[in-house]
Amino acid sequence: MSSVKLCSVKLNDGFFMPMLGFGTSAPNKVAKSEVEEAVMKAIDVGYRHFDSAYLYLNEEEIGRAIQKKIADGSVKREDIFYTSKVWGTFLRPELVQTSLEISLRKLQLSYVDLYLIHIPIPLKPGEELFPKDEHGELIFDTVDLCATWEAMEKCKDSGLAKSIGVSNFNHKQLERILDKPSLKYKPVCNQVECQPYLNQSKLLEFCKSQDIVLTAYAALGSNSGKEWLSKNNPVLLEDPVLSAIAARHRRTPAQVALRYQLQRGVVALAKSFNEERIRENFQALDFQLTPEDMESLDSLNRNIRYFVDPL
Ligand code: NAP
Repeated sequence: MSSVKLCSVKLNDGFFMPMLGFGTSAPNKVAKSEVEEAVMKAIDVGYRHFDSAYLYLNEEEIGRAIQKKIADGSVKREDIFYTSKVWGTFLRPELVQTSLEISLRKLQLSYVDLYLIHIPIPLKPGEELFPKDEHGELIFDTVDLCATWEAMEKCKDSGLAKSIGVSNFNHKQLERILDKPSLKYKPVCNQVECQPYLNQSKLLEFCKSQDIVLTAYAALGSNSGKEWLSKNNPVLLEDPVLSAIAARHRRTPAQVALRYQLQRGVVALAKSFNEERIRENFQALDFQLTPEDMESLDSLNRNIRYFVDPL
């Protein structure tokens, strides 16, 4: 689809990533069957970039949705850009490819387009996604993330992942990878929370200087239904400045929040399992904010984080 190609960014390894991605993480209470329906609708609407992770426990459903849309002729595998992530319990180098292979089996795919280190926080390996001790405290692991990165590089070399990157890394953590002796591949992207109240301007500047794409999650202010989100924050999509800009353009606050990221060169993820909002969010691709709008949106930055901590 040519409009999707036009809205892609070239990664530092030569592959292209669509600037607008479809988020798939939902609160535990949401039936997993909903994600399958949502991904099929999203493909029909025109999304080609899908973001998931081992942690989301939904890769079987997403894989089924993609296979169905391939089978009905809507898309080919190469039209889809699929991201998965290696969870903290798999950060020991010998576990990284195992985790990717588990994801690929669930997805019924032979490769992912992008594989990310989900969090820079190694956790005790095992069945538990959040391993805890008898006091309910998380059990961490000791792993050198540079060794994890070398295992990621092997995933790229084996062709199981076309591109590799990181998520929830700060400037220092990124630098550790970039300064690693005999670095073979730079991360192509860093996926972090990024929305007008936390616009990540410094990290964005650093990423741009390194030819690393910044991908925004919670670009719409996320969903207060998630157990691990900080409560009592203002609702982003009700912000008066965002709403006024939206009204002026006859758009919605969600479209403006997404468009803001796209125009700063940030890849934006948007999750919705609602057909109307799936369509609405996709239309962030087809309008333009003025430099004055962008300035007003920049001024909303106030260090409000919806995700308390990557954990
Ligand atoms: P989000 O995309 O900022 O917001 C999703 C919430 O907004 C949902 O409750 C959705 O409800 C609602 N919504 C969607 N479109 C809307 C619209 N047009 N108007 C009003 N409300 C709307 O939050 P997110 O899911 O937390 O983040 C997006 C994606 O980023 C995730 O799904 C996941 O793929 C990824 N992510 C990655 C990390 C990481 O650590 N790397 C962390 C968090 C998220 P409905 O479904 O009812 O529309």
